[in-house]
Amino acid sequence: MAKIEFEERDLHAQVPDLAAGGAWTRVRLRWRRDPLTGASARILTGVKLQPATRTDLAGLTAKPAFCPFDSEHLETATVPFPAELTAEGRIREGRAVVVPNILAYATHSAVGIYDPGRHFLDLDELTPSLVGDTLTAMVRHARAVRHLDPAAAWSSVNANYLPPSGSSLIHPHVQSTHDACGLTSQRFLVGQGQAWQEENGSYWTALVDQEAGGPRWVGHTGRVAWLTPFAPGGFHEVWAVVTGAADVTDLTEQDTRALGQGLSRVLAAYRDWNLASFNFAVIGGGPRAREHGHQVVLKVISRSNPDPVYRSDATCFERLYAEALIDLSPEEVAAGVRPRF
Ligand SMILES: [Zn+2]
Repeated sequence: MAKIEFEERDLHAQVPDLAAGGAWTRVRLRWRRDPLTGASARILTGVKLQPATRTDLAGLTAKPAFCPFDSEHLETATVPFPAELTAEGRIREGRAVVVPNILAYATHSAVGIYDPGRHFLDLDELTPSLVGDTLTAMVRHARAVRHLDPAAAWSSVNANYLPPSGSSLIHPHVQSTHDACGLTSQRFLVGQGQAWQEENGSYWTALVDQEAGGPRWVGHTGRVAWLTPFAPGGFHEVWAVVTGAADVTDLTEQDTRALGQGLSRVLAAYRDWNLASFNFAVIGGGPRAREHGHQVVLKVISRSNPDPVYRSDATCFERLYAEALIDLSPEEVAAGVRPRF
């Protein structure tokens, strides 16, 4: 199996040091390239962007008069799935409920609510069972979709949490995409994995083998490997690789439980770092996932805190150049999360 080459360069930056009367001082600025996608990231020096205190979420997350995901409104504000898709109507697992999405952005899409009984769940309240059960129910929906419409072979399960992440509803939830087109980075990731596979075998197997026990390694839950990416695309980014599952529909109940367990630990670490908002993506490998050596990858990143006038973490570099500027290195993130595993 070929060794993955992690390319890092020092960009030799010098800045005026105001504490030293403006004297030009060399600072560490590392440029890194993701070995699979070629996407580069810059690891800055210092932790200027880390929130020193936690945003008060009380006002933003107070229970409103009406929320469609609250248990007292859920039955009237949401619609069951059609009988041709599932006999379950609304798909339930533990406290989690999965219902049809009313916003069309993929041929098939569901919304999964972790707990209709709680309008808001803080990061440390997203327990392994709430997250695991929600993912279990989302996978059950994904399998029903695939059975009904095999052409909808590009699948993902995703989360926006609080407005800075793009979420329009406060009530914590996840949402899926299933269609014949997939998403830009999803297709690209799988395509690059295919090219790697033809030369060297599965990239994801090699990545886990090579990173295990190293500075970016976090740990295992079940057959899920947790690590931080060498060249992150977002802040505090953590990845989970599900060994042996090529597509969302391949995830077993053990896998969704293991993903829930690990994600819950990562989000608790985010809470300890005064973070409040996040996105995650569970990325399926599309119609030829198995032959391309894809393994289901979960990526989770933190987002800006929902302060009244907050600084977005997506600058021109991230949005227009697809190049992340990161102030806390992947190795530091891994060291912070690892003790929870
Ligand atoms: Zn609610």
